[in-house]
Amino acid sequence: HSHQDLSSLPGSDLVVQLSTSLQRKPDVVDFGTVFTDHMLSVEWNANGGWQTPLIRPFGDLSLHPACSALHYAVELFEGLKVYRGDDKRLRLFRPLLNMERMSKSAKRACLPAFDQSELLGCIKRLIEIDQDWVPHLGSGCLYIRPTFIGTEPSLGVKKPNRALLYVIMCQAGSYFNTELSLWADPKYTRAWKGGTGDCKMGGNYGGTLFAQQEAGSYDCQQVLWLYGEDHQITEGGTMNIFLHWINEDGDEELATPPLDGIILPGVTRQSILDLARKWDEFKVSERYLTMGQLCSALKQQRLKEMFGSGTACRILLSGLARCGFSFFFCLGPPGDKSLSSNLLRINFALFQHGRSPSDWTYL
Ligand code: PMP
Repeated sequence: HSHQDLSSLPGSDLVVQLSTSLQRKPDVVDFGTVFTDHMLSVEWNANGGWQTPLIRPFGDLSLHPACSALHYAVELFEGLKVYRGDDKRLRLFRPLLNMERMSKSAKRACLPAFDQSELLGCIKRLIEIDQDWVPHLGSGCLYIRPTFIGTEPSLGVKKPNRALLYVIMCQAGSYFNTELSLWADPKYTRAWKGGTGDCKMGGNYGGTLFAQQEAGSYDCQQVLWLYGEDHQITEGGTMNIFLHWINEDGDEELATPPLDGIILPGVTRQSILDLARKWDEFKVSERYLTMGQLCSALKQQRLKEMFGSGTACRILLSGLARCGFSFFFCLGPPGDKSLSSNLLRINFALFQHGRSPSDWTYL
């Protein structure tokens, strides 16, 4: 079964094969280790376009050993969450932004275009089928991982003629459940101008493990990524970075680096900017921030807060531990008593319990 318009992913034809043996849902799990009972998959090939989407029991993939995702990292992914509101209804948080970012990553990876709303429709159906996996109590939720891989069975370095888009889901409590610290050393670079750092491509992440490991050897859990001669602050681990400070001109400012190609355009980042601009209580800027500026702000006690933002971890706060050539931050867990009231407000607004109507939720 194939389609005339090769870019349209035909969600309405979705086929569902239910699992006959459902798993027991575990009480507490490490992030990303236990998956729900079903997954969505859709194949694409250059001649036939998008094939019929399939929801099937969660299980292994069968891949050709020369598959381009495995050799050349022709691969991308997304990460979003579905929450159960106080009214028991399930809500996705701004999923259209994830679909949009996924389309951009696909374009950059030379993977085919897809219809964003059709894919979102299929994801909604998958969530419905595995809805019991969304925790009924507490602050847990389900993390959704759309994945798109080149499956060209050839070692040629070229645009793939075959691809597979699939979606898996796992329970998520809090991603970082202990005290957290950041380590920065300018010898490592996560992303660079002209590269792929602004896309959610797998290759951006595999290469960070080595630095991550070194951070670990300093008892830090994440890397604070710097860029360029002037040691621009870019991201923290897989989080966008914010400073809330009195800036060089004496203005109270919430600042995060601009989307200049080396920053992943986080949905949480965008949401924090949107919220803070709506509050209109202090200056909100997308601007360059350097370690030098951060260190002077610390010395002059102008730094109110530094935090990272991301879907997996929501918002994590920093309390400064030590400052030298290598830079160490200790971050408290979410809900830390020292969280400023603004961070609490942001966390509350980003955490969708459905207590107030919002056009950021998608049912
Ligand atoms: N930066 C990087 C490098 C990331 O991988 C992520 C996680 N997607 C983020 C920032 C945060 O993005 P989001 O708020 O969309 O989860």
